Parts: sequence; structure tokens; C-alpha cells
Amino acid sequence: MSAARGRFAPSPTGRMHLGNIRSALLGWLQARAAGGAFLLRIEDLDRARCKPAHGDALKEDLGWLGLDWDETPLVQSERDSEYREAQARLERAGLVYPCFCTRAEIARAASAPHGLSDEGPRYPGTCAHLTAAQVSERSRTRAPAYRFRAQPGEVRFVDGLLGPASQDVDAVVGDFVIRRNDGVASYQLAVVVDDAASHITHVLRGDDLLTSTPRQLQLYAALELNAPDFLHVPLVMGEDGKRLAKREGAFALAELRERGVAPEQVLGLLASWSGLGDGAPVRLDELVRRFRVESLPREPVVAREATLREVLGLG
Ligand code: GLU
Repeated sequence: MSAARGRFAPSPTGRMHLGNIRSALLGWLQARAAGGAFLLRIEDLDRARCKPAHGDALKEDLGWLGLDWDETPLVQSERDSEYREAQARLERAGLVYPCFCTRAEIARAASAPHGLSDEGPRYPGTCAHLTAAQVSERSRTRAPAYRFRAQPGEVRFVDGLLGPASQDVDAVVGDFVIRRNDGVASYQLAVVVDDAASHITHVLRGDDLLTSTPRQLQLYAALELNAPDFLHVPLVMGEDGKRLAKREGAFALAELRERGVAPEQVLGLLASWSGLGDGAPVRLDELVRRFRVESLPREPVVAREATLREVLGLG
């Protein structure tokens, strides 16, 4: 019996496309190849963008490909008391302060930042040292967001695929939001609390979240929780150099299914993007046997539309 525990933690903001289903597949393969458990978690904190119907659809898509999961999925919108408890612990340690700035960044904090460029400049610490009187004065007109005091120095870790990585969170990001001023916990806090609560040992996700990992490691340390191993896979890009996720009609899985494409064809394509095959249709159990972290590409994969059509038999 292996104690490995992986997970897929999508935000139900739209249809699953070939890029995010590939991350799901690789996480699933990593867990199953190790004889471990694989969990699903619904990251629906960004209420404006997330819809329950998308959550149902993504479960259907995963099921169609044969990607099963263990245990009942955690749903982040139901877990605020856990996030509050973690925040209270950080507050007791003097690591949190209220922030009254009206920055767009605060509004965005509930969803995962897909790369540092999504996040704007370093927070300059405007509210880091307000007096109690200033806090109560400002609280009269505005609910605060809450920020974690970024710890100085390089955060180093070894990525399972990309190797040694480091970031000085304080210098690059600054104190970061753990709760927005509308009361919603931030992605960074929720993901740490949930991965720890689920005893996740292996996080495999797109490398657009590589720059979030140092922040998460600071939260693990501050909360005295065991951090998982991280493995970030370079994303699948369209021929235009844009992330597949950001392209119009990025080959939604549901659409392929409706057009009569078989799961083995989709798996063949995903395998070819992952150093695990040449594009020929393949079964999931065969991929479990083939899976090797060392085979995964360390560079972004370009999804060529012509190849895609050919492999999927779309003419
Ligand atoms: N929910 C995040 C997203 O959709 C992923 C979070 C994670 O894997 O850590 O991008």
C-alpha cells in the first residue's frame, strides 16, 4: 500500500478543455502509478466566475476518460470555517494585518493567479503598520482585506520536474491577500488549508502556478503543516503562443465527445503531449504502465491544430 495522495483541483469556470484535462490526467497517472489515492476538489471561491453546472460537467468529462477519484470531493465554498481557523492561527502569530487598499488585486485573490503577470506589482506594504486607532477609523467606511506578512529571504524548493526553484516572496510579491474584503478566502490560503486537510503528498499542476508555490510554502511553514511535493508541468499552448485555456474553442472535451471522438483517441493525444506516446489511441491502464515523470516535457507543448484534427479523426 502506498501513502501517495494526489489531487486535481479545478475551478468550475467553464468547460474542460484539452489543456486542463491533461493536467488532470497527469495527476491521476502520477497517483495511480504509485498505487496511491487521487482526490478531486472543487475550487469555487470565485463566485462570480464559478457555476455548479460547470462542476457537474467536469465530473462527467473526467468520468468519460476513466479518471476516477477517491473520497468525497471537498468544495471550497463550503469550507470557510476551516479557512477562518487557519487565518486565526496566523493572526495569533502576528502574521496577518487588515488592509484597506482598493486594489484590483484584492478582488482577484479568490482565483488562482496564472503566472506572476496576472498579479500586478509588489504590494508596497501601505497598510502593514497601521495603529489600532487607524484600523478602527478605516473600518468604519470599508471592510478590510487581510494580508499575510511575507517572510524575508529566498523560499527554495525542488520541483519534481523542473528542478530547483526559488523566490523571494517578500521582494517579488510582498504581503499577500489571504482574505478579500468581501470576506472570501484567497486561493493561496484555501489551497494550503485544503491540501493539508486532505493529506495530499503530491501536487501536480500547470507551471503557471509555479510562482504561487513559494507563497504556499510560507503558509505551510507559518501554519506548521507538512508541505506536499510539487511538480509543475509546462502548459499546452496554441500555435499562436497563447495558453490553450485562453484560446477560443480550445477543444472542449464535451464537444469532442459529442462529435464521436473516443476516449482512447483523446488519451492518445494527451499522451503525445506528455512524452508517453506517439498520438496513437491508448487505454488508461496502458498509460499507468508507461507513466514516468522523466518522460514529461520540460518545455511548453504546442498543440498544432492539424495534428490535433488528425489524431482525433476530425478531418
Ligand atoms: N483551482 C486552480 C486553477 O483552476 C488550481 C489550483 C491548484 O492546482 O493548486 O487553476
